[in-house]
Amino acid sequence: MEHDEKCNLCQETSLDVGESSSYGAVVICKVGSETDNMWLATLSPKTGGDPENDCTIQLMPHHHYTNFTEVNTNSELAKNYGLLFAKVSNALFQVMKDQDSEFTDPSPTRESSISIASYGKWTTWNEKKEHLHIKIFPFRNNIGQPYTVDSSFGRKEVHTDTETNEKFVKMDVVEKTMIKSELFTTLKDTLILLLNE
Ligand SMILES: [Zn+2]
Repeated sequence: MEHDEKCNLCQETSLDVGESSSYGAVVICKVGSETDNMWLATLSPKTGGDPENDCTIQLMPHHHYTNFTEVNTNSELAKNYGLLFAKVSNALFQVMKDQDSEFTDPSPTRESSISIASYGKWTTWNEKKEHLHIKIFPFRNNIGQPYTVDSSFGRKEVHTDTETNEKFVKMDVVEKTMIKSELFTTLKDTLILLLNE
């Protein structure tokens, strides 16, 4: 499907670098020469992490592709995804390195190491047909908790619900809040510079 009128992501895929969507996401990079092979990255206005430090960048194709099997049918689209993923990872690394005063320490502690995570999921034959998107974010604070595919998730302490006997593990609550406006402006300008030089 080229565009889906009801899709909020389709509405932002025609924006240019620096332009902002109705809910405040800003396009920071576009890769591709034609709309059928184009990918975009946007900086989200909210984060589930620390609103004074963290952020989330979203990658998505211009067209309303819903599944990576569709990306596999267009090699230029697949290549451009890889290029954008690498560019955004590097730009976010540069931003996090500059935020971390301990990073230049010759013997960095484990706390000062830089971790970046990505998340994406696609389902074949689902009802919802969501616009394919992948999130890249600093793996720290509440958005840096071990995920189900991590070995460390499997090592979490198992608790038992006293009423139902169900077993569960604990996670910290993640609430999305607006990134502080000064930080958002700095992040947006820095990322646009790094990604479009
Ligand atoms: Zn869409």
